[in-house]
Amino acid sequence: MSSKMLQFTHIEQQSPDKRAAETRKQDFNEIYGGFQDDRATGQASRCEQCGIPFCSVHCPLGNHIPDWLMLTANGRLEEAYALSSSTNSMPEVCGRICPQDRLCEGSCVLEQSRHRSVTIGAVEKYITDTAWEKGWVQPIVPTEERSESVGIIGGGPAGLAAAEQLRMQGFQVHVYDRYDRMGGLLVYGIPGFKLEKDVIARRVDLLERSGVVFHPNTDIGKTVTFAELRSRHDSILIATGVYKARALTIPGAGLTGVHKALDYLITSNKVSLGDSIDAYTSGELNAAGKDVVVIGGGDTAMDCVRTAIRQGAKSVKCLYRRDRDNMPGSQREVANAEEEGVEFVWLAAPEALLNEGTDQAVSGVRCIRMHLGVADASGRQSPEPTPGSQFVLPADLVIEALGFEPEDLPAMFGEADLTVTRWGTLKTHPRTLMTSLDGVFAAGDIVRGASLVVWGIRDGRDAAASIGRYLNEKAVAQAAE
Ligand SMILES: Cc1cc2nc3c(=O)[nH]c(=O)nc-3n(C[C@H](O)[C@H](O)[C@H](O)COP(=O)(O)OP(=O)(O)OC[C@H]3O[C@@H](n4cnc5c(N)ncnc54)[C@H](O)[C@@H]3O)c2cc1C
Ligand code: SF4
Repeated sequence: MSSKMLQFTHIEQQSPDKRAAETRKQDFNEIYGGFQDDRATGQASRCEQCGIPFCSVHCPLGNHIPDWLMLTANGRLEEAYALSSSTNSMPEVCGRICPQDRLCEGSCVLEQSRHRSVTIGAVEKYITDTAWEKGWVQPIVPTEERSESVGIIGGGPAGLAAAEQLRMQGFQVHVYDRYDRMGGLLVYGIPGFKLEKDVIARRVDLLERSGVVFHPNTDIGKTVTFAELRSRHDSILIATGVYKARALTIPGAGLTGVHKALDYLITSNKVSLGDSIDAYTSGELNAAGKDVVVIGGGDTAMDCVRTAIRQGAKSVKCLYRRDRDNMPGSQREVANAEEEGVEFVWLAAPEALLNEGTDQAVSGVRCIRMHLGVADASGRQSPEPTPGSQFVLPADLVIEALGFEPEDLPAMFGEADLTVTRWGTLKTHPRTLMTSLDGVFAAGDIVRGASLVVWGIRDGRDAAASIGRYLNEKAVAQAAE
């Protein structure tokens, strides 16, 4: 082991510099800068090089974290990049947006002591951003070209990770997406202040230069039927994510000025990418000058409130029925939102959306205070209303960020034999990840339900390995006939 490690006793934990709230809320650029070289090596050298690296165990990709930290601490960055990219198809993305406090860094032994964790995500971002700058990230050149082709439905993290891995095996890979740009929620869900869009564009470009063929604006089930797609390819991967938004069912839910989170975020992301969107220009999906209430406590709600701040909202409130400790969104993002001027209304739920004008526009949210009652079977305390505690929040834009469910894929694809679970996610074989249809595999949120980018990447890589085995066995069987 390097003599430079175990420096945690005299090097404090330091994150990359964060832009001041007053400056960063004027634009949609990332709020964190990168590490300078000496800070990155210093931070990496804090690693304790544990015998059992809990950080790796709790990283969904099983990244070899202590090894690439050690290489970074010793200035061997090209090797650090080779090792980190051997288990992760987009380390620069995970380094930026993984909820590290719940994954690798939350499990770091130093975090359990008074020393605080190694800043693993920031070092991972530093290694890969440096690799891009230095030209170490190169297109894939497979050792052998295979004649079999694979059609991937969905160009999000699961689809793109699978495309990379299948191309490495030499297969002909086609990715179909209903949107005009590839990247899925990385491009159209997650705002630029967490993940700048050129980070995704350069990955997509690299895959294109590696021979992956992209088919944007192609909605499978509409533009091209699922049956037609199956006839084009030797195997199919469904990586369509989950897009059916849960909606409010309270009185007033149909008023104008009430919108789904993803409609709002997609519009904002398109505008940031330079597109002209009528719903934004008309003010319908633009928070400028408005009192905004976002309902929900997950990552999507955090992205909405911070987007509204950047659009110049008059006030932005986040309404959540549990308390801060019991919200699903990242604590880091809550802290960032508070710094930027978002007000959190904890332990409160909407009862009705109000309309006090002559038109059908929302004018406020009638809320009721909640308290946490007894724990349910999962151990989580259920929120219960406190009688007589109603209050009103003024609002002329209400955004519903209540989570997502799968679309009805068997109906969309005209494939009644495509088996789904009782939640509507696709049922796959636990080992092969094949669906109920021969040669059709599935990965990412459409299998797990709404999850994380890092899990999408993991699933995409696993599915690619399984598709490779499937096509190899088929080739062997055909040769034997
Ligand atoms: C607002 C928001 C913020 C988030 N923030 C974070 C975060 O900070 N960190 C994190 O780890 N995770 C975050 N997530 C979760 C993360 O984005 C998802 O878990 C991840 O993107 C899932 O990847 P996927 O490839 O399965 O699906 P997606 O990224 O949803 O990609 C699916 C793709 O399939 C395409 N598609 C769907 N149906 C069809 C069809 N019929 N034909 C053609 N194409 C189709 C879609 O257009 C889309 O491009 C966030 C999610 C949201 C909504
Ligand atoms: S991929 Fe995510 S969980 Fe794994 S090391 Fe990187 S930041 Fe941590």
